[in-house]
Parts: sequence; structure tokens; C-alpha cells
Amino acid sequence: MIMKKAIIIGSGIGGSSIGALLCSIGYKVELFEKNSLLGGRYSTYTKVDDDGREYKMDVGCHLVGNCEKGSIGKVFNEIGLPNAIKWSYASHPRPIFYYINQFIKFPQEIHKIGLNNRDFKSAFKLFDKLKSITDEEIRELEENQVTLSDFLKDYTKNEKIFSLMSFINGMYFVISPDKASASEWIRCQNEIQRNKSSGYPIGGTGIIANTLCKYIEDNGGTVHKETEVSKIIIDNQTAKGVELKNGEQIFSDLIISNAGVINTVNNLIEHSVLDNKYIARINKYEYSLATVQVKVALDKKITDQKMIMFLGEEFDLDSVEERYENMLDEQIPDFHPVLFCPIVSNIDPSVAPEGTQLIYAGGGCPMPNDGFSNKNHKDGWEKACINSLERIFPDIRDHILWIETTTPEDIMNFVDEAGCVIGISQAADQMGANRPDFQVPNISNLYLCCADTGTTGIGGELAANSALNLFDIIKNDI
Ligand SMILES: Cc1cc2nc3c(=O)[nH]c(=O)nc-3n(C[C@H](O)[C@H](O)[C@H](O)COP(=O)(O)OP(=O)(O)OC[C@H]3O[C@@H](n4cnc5c(N)ncnc54)[C@H](O)[C@@H]3O)c2cc1C
Repeated sequence: MIMKKAIIIGSGIGGSSIGALLCSIGYKVELFEKNSLLGGRYSTYTKVDDDGREYKMDVGCHLVGNCEKGSIGKVFNEIGLPNAIKWSYASHPRPIFYYINQFIKFPQEIHKIGLNNRDFKSAFKLFDKLKSITDEEIRELEENQVTLSDFLKDYTKNEKIFSLMSFINGMYFVISPDKASASEWIRCQNEIQRNKSSGYPIGGTGIIANTLCKYIEDNGGTVHKETEVSKIIIDNQTAKGVELKNGEQIFSDLIISNAGVINTVNNLIEHSVLDNKYIARINKYEYSLATVQVKVALDKKITDQKMIMFLGEEFDLDSVEERYENMLDEQIPDFHPVLFCPIVSNIDPSVAPEGTQLIYAGGGCPMPNDGFSNKNHKDGWEKACINSLERIFPDIRDHILWIETTTPEDIMNFVDEAGCVIGISQAADQMGANRPDFQVPNISNLYLCCADTGTTGIGGELAANSALNLFDIIKNDI
């Protein structure tokens, strides 16, 4: 058999996964990554503090939905390395809510939020429905493009329950519940409940792409860091290769872009070879929202928790919109009302020096393309997030060694996609048949593989799902 060659643009979870999968069936893979770190939004870098101590820091702020039982785990199984990543679960203790002013185990202690009998019953009716819902019902919700808000309204009108469910939705998909796909929320929620394996890869999220890229290199492929692709060469409606920023051209049988669907279509493909309707359709897709992340190193361990979901006040849809408008008006809140806080060094002690603690706190903020500069408000965001953390840990300020804040603008400079968290969002009208396709119409040998083209999963697992599905398509085409 003649060895086929595949070029991959980008080393995010989608790119490194499809590269490794193709290597496993004999493709010669050449991967180009514009950054010096591998992994895109799942990259990890090393920070050295003033005392020369090292911390492993993620570019994003992560918890992996299902670890070895999810789609990232399946990629490693598929390439014959099921144990290459050591996972550490975010359990013992399990993730916990900090709701207004108290810790609440969810759902066991939902009564603590102060529900009357009727609301309490409606909450449990909802939980029972989630457990018993059939695949057919989920498919129907998807086809009818039912949003999470509309789905929840059939069970409860209670704002407290709505707030908790919306929080979980925000944590998964980083969009508002009136846009989120109910079917996708139920699928992901049920998968997490079933697997009970949410956690973190030992060594930081970057270990995933680094391990996959090493597999590519160990199997005859090449991985080029700091090498940006400037265009995809298309001749006679067939993708032939790529041109690098330095002008060099490299040719291949297959070209797979992990550089985001909108970015690939707008910036890497000559528009004259594309149908205008396709360009317009791709540009209509909406991204998920963005977050600001405050990463705090402490001089001692102040908590045994591994993951805290901070909800500083109840909210309904109107207040979410009002808050967003206020933020755009440059009114950074005094405290951030909604934070996702992995205490990353409790999940993986290897990421921080012994005796210290590393806490991440990520919360929603305006998108850079809404004309707002989070970068100019770094101090404000930092203050807002620390004020919220102080509600959970009153003495946190006494122990802060340093704080590092990452804004959506940092993410945008790093991977593009408008600085958003996930990619093209899992909105009700962007799922199922409406998800971007792997193939670019009328262009052969060119595929798109990233979270944007994933059909189900949270963040990194959505990107790995995309790689697994594309792998099946390519295998069937051989
Ligand atoms: C703050 C934050 C928090 C998050 N939290 C979580 C979480 O808790 N759990 C979770 O699972 N997910 C989380 N995510 C989402 C998750 O990180 C992403 O959905 C996922 O990693 C996207 O993977 P991807 O394969 O689509 O590509 P990306 O990560 O977008 O990678 C694309 C790669 O392509 C490269 N590239 C782009 N253009 C070029 C070019 N022209 N030439 C060469 N290379 C190029 C980029 O540099 C990048 O490395 C979070 C993301 C952020 C930003």
C-alpha cells in the first residue's frame, strides 16, 4: 500500500487527535502549529515565580468532562495507548456549589437553597426526567431546536433551580440558557452523571496534545511548532497542500484544518473557489461566549475542595442580559457573581510546588468583538474575581503569592476564534444537521476538524469527538 500523506493545520485537541488517529492507520502526518506550545486552548505553560519555583499553568481553565471514559480517552484507546494519560478525578470531595453564602452539595442538599414543597418536588421531577429520558426524546428536542430555558420551563418556574441549572449549562457550553441546546445539555449532563469521571490530566491539559504529537513523531510524522500556515493551496477544486508564512509550499494527499471553521474559510481558503452561499452560511455561525480567568497562587493550602461552583446571587434571564449590558458600559461588577473554580493543585498536586495552592477562577465577560477591551480592565476583573473568592475563603488575601489574569483577548491572540471559550456554540439552532460540516463543499481532500465540527461533548471532548467522527469518514473513504 502506498503511504498517504496528511497535513494538519493546528495542534488543538481536534488537530492533534486526528493527526495521531491517521498515523495509527499508516498515514504520514505533518502537523503545523503557529504557537510554540502544543494544544491550542488546552495548552500548558510553565511559570517560574520570584523564588525560582515552577508552576504548570493552563492557557484555559479546565476540567475534563469524562477523562478516560470520554472522547479524549477514546482517541488514546484507538491509537493503542489507553494508559498514556494519567487522570485525576475531581472527586473526594466532589464538586460543590457555593451558593450566595453557603456550600451546597448538589443535588443532595438542594433544600438548603430554600425551596417550598412544590418547588422541591418540581426539582426532583426534573432530575427524574433527566434519568429516564429516551434517546428518541433527546433527538426530538434536537430536531425541534428546543432551548434549555424552554425545556426547564416545563418543569420549574423557580428562579433558584433555574440559576443552578443555568450555571451548569454555562460551565459546559458558555452560552446563555435561552440559546443553549436542551438536547446537548441533557446528553452531556447524563454522560457526566453516568461516567462519574470528570477530572484533569496529571501534568496539565497540555500533556494531551504533547502526548499525541509525540505519538505522531514516533510513528514517522513531523510536528512543526511556531510554523504558521498562511493558505491552503487549492487547484482544480482539489486541496493540494499548504503555503507557510515564510512562503514555503508543502504538498499532501489530505489537508485537515484545526484552525477553526470560520477562520479557515475566511483566512486560509481563496474565496474564489468557494460558493458564496457557503461563505455566508459559515459567517452566520455564532461563537460561545468568553471568560476572564484569574489564576491565584497561595503560600499555603486553604481548602481541600477540588472544584467549587460559585454563584453569588440568584439570576433570571433579564438580569443576565442587564449585567452583560452593564459590562459593555464598562461597569465591571464589584464581585464576579458566577465563577467556575477548579482548585487545580488539589486535583493534580504536580502543577504547583509543595506547600502552595493553585486556584483558578473563570467567569463570563464581554466578547472582544462586542467592542469591549477586557485587557484595559484586567485590574477590575482581577478585583471582582478575588472579591468573590474572598466570600468563599475570607482569609485568601493573606496568602496570595501572585495572581495571573487571562482575558479573552489573550485567547484570541493565541488561537483566534474571537477569544471565545468553546468554538462555534452549542446553541439549539447550531446542533444536529445545522452543525458545520467536516467537508468544504466542492473541494476535495480538505476537511475541518475542531470543536466547531464536533457533534457532542464539552470543550476539549467536543473537539476530540470531531476527530473520532472524521477518522471514521476518512477510513470509510479509503
Ligand atoms: C478559558 C477557557 C476555559 C475552558 N474550559 C474548559 C473546560 O473546563 N473543559 C473543557 O473540556 N474545555 C474547556 N475549554 C474549551 C476547550 O479548550 C476548547 O473547546 C478546545 O480545546 C478547542 O479545541 P480545538 O481542537 O477546536 O482547537 P484550538 O484549541 O482552538 O486549537 C487550534 C489550534 O490551531 C492553531 N492554528 C490556528 N491557525 C493556525 C495557522 N494558520 N497555522 C498553524 N496553526 C494554527 C492554533 O494556534 C491552535 O493551537 C476552555 C477554553 C477556554 C479558552
